[in-house]
Amino acid sequence: MNERIREKWLCGLMILSLVLLPLTSFAQAVEWTYPISADKLENRNGFLVLANRDNLLDKDFLPRNIVPVSLRGVSGPHELRREAAEALTSLFAEAERAGYELYLKSSYRSWGTQNTMYQNRLEKNGKDDGVVAPPGSSDHQTGLAADVLNREWSRRDGMTPAFGETAEARWMEANCAAFGFIIRYLPEKQDITGIIYEPWHLRYVGPEVAAYMMERRLSLEEFTEEYQNAIAEYEAAGGDYPALLRELSALPPAILMDEGEEDGEVSLFYKVP
Ligand SMILES: [Zn+2]
Repeated sequence: MNERIREKWLCGLMILSLVLLPLTSFAQAVEWTYPISADKLENRNGFLVLANRDNLLDKDFLPRNIVPVSLRGVSGPHELRREAAEALTSLFAEAERAGYELYLKSSYRSWGTQNTMYQNRLEKNGKDDGVVAPPGSSDHQTGLAADVLNREWSRRDGMTPAFGETAEARWMEANCAAFGFIIRYLPEKQDITGIIYEPWHLRYVGPEVAAYMMERRLSLEEFTEEYQNAIAEYEAAGGDYPALLRELSALPPAILMDEGEEDGEVSLFYKVP
């Protein structure tokens, strides 16, 4: 190799390493690329809790922060988890402004209540006809589900998918996500959810997730699989999911503002940026 070629080759190698070095160190930090922020999927608050025939909630499963709901309704009193209760109150108010009168028909149901309903239905029919969910499989046990109807349907005995043709149901489907709700049982997802189209059944999942799901018309079953895959892929690429969550929920750093001089006491103040 002659001297000039050797020099050029070395020079090229140096440039290449300068380009590659920052790239390799950058590659070590795995990026979270799923369109929903990681902390919304962690399910710490249980907003994504999945209840169906394959994922039964425990007999002792008690949702946190159950509060009374005082909204126009039938067959009360009603209770929901605080976040869902507040969101539903806002949804009712917005519907009213749009000229729709909504009625709350069903809300939180304990395992025991669901069990009684299920056993009664069994006794009446002699078999499980799929109308009443077995205990543990009801979305209502999460404290995040509400059955909402219009005046006419609230006075009927039963509910059918035909409610979906009413103006109130259409309004709810178009607007529920803005309040953090999804239509839990969509007509085209019956094979996946195992439940008929229930245009009255709203389920709270939080606004960011609700917007994502309603836009793509995902069932909670499909979404659960999707986000759990996203977490698994992140971890397979070397990402540390718990560390990412800690980072996202970290308190602002404490900043030393003042030091007491006389008695040597140190005062700490938290300054929120
Ligand atoms: Zn329901």
